[in-house]
Amino acid sequence: MSMPESPFRDAVFTQPDGFSQPNGVYCRYCGATPAVDVDFRAHRGLIFMMQFRKLPGPFCRECGLAVFRKMTGDSLVQGWWGLMSMVINPFTILMNVGARYQVAKLPPPVPGAPRQPMSPGRPLLQRWQIAGVLVPLAVAGLIIAGAASGNSSSSSNSGYKPYVPPTIPSIPSFPSVQSMPSFPSAPAAPVVPGNPTTSATPTTPVNFPDSDKVKPGDCVWDTKGDVKTDTHPKMEIVSCGDDRSQATVLGKTSGPTAESQCDTSFPDSDLVYTHSYSYGGGPEIVDYALCMQTK
Ligand SMILES: [Zn+2]
Repeated sequence: MSMPESPFRDAVFTQPDGFSQPNGVYCRYCGATPAVDVDFRAHRGLIFMMQFRKLPGPFCRECGLAVFRKMTGDSLVQGWWGLMSMVINPFTILMNVGARYQVAKLPPPVPGAPRQPMSPGRPLLQRWQIAGVLVPLAVAGLIIAGAASGNSSSSSNSGYKPYVPPTIPSIPSFPSVQSMPSFPSAPAAPVVPGNPTTSATPTTPVNFPDSDKVKPGDCVWDTKGDVKTDTHPKMEIVSCGDDRSQATVLGKTSGPTAESQCDTSFPDSDLVYTHSYSYGGGPEIVDYALCMQTK
């Protein structure tokens, strides 16, 4: 006379939209269906180094929301630290918002998945990481304030110049310091322009001294922990048969678009290290990226 007793009854029938139908797509993480095939990303700017993480789908609704909140929260805090990161991070966040929209449309997973779906936890808007949106707003405010004081301080051109954010540089064949005229009064410059390659030192929290030697097919590990979660990894090359091996290098790309080339040329890569350098405090210049797949 009443509904058959089922341990899953509440989970299914208390949802307002009522019906959860298998859609033939299964969550990569818990095996539940319905699911949708989207990717979530996280970006971390590290002044001289950038890290991109991608967790590929498909995702059920629960796992998708959990991953969206974690990775977008990480990006909101870690994604702004570098000129190029300031440009890249909003796109990372917007791509996640688009993927979240598709995940949130799914009905709840059909009960009986092989593993328990992840717990989505608190909505992103209720997490402290949302305060990270203030970082670009603060920078924009400083730029505007600088421009305003530059305009009002003097009518001549001798006042402060408003700060103009540099555009993404094309590959330079010569550093700009070499093309500048030398000043007769030689102001004390902290950077010696004689040999610019010596100033291209990747002083970075991501310690990867052998990154120049890495070849496709090599394996790497983080000597300080798990490369997927460590915030200051120290990377070393290791034999792929070694138990310590944590990621395989699928390929190496170069130039300012090296990171996006990882996505297109090595779609299986889920961890990208971008190596960049700067001449005498100038804008960062990407010279290569390592497209890796974690194990
Ligand atoms: Zn799932």
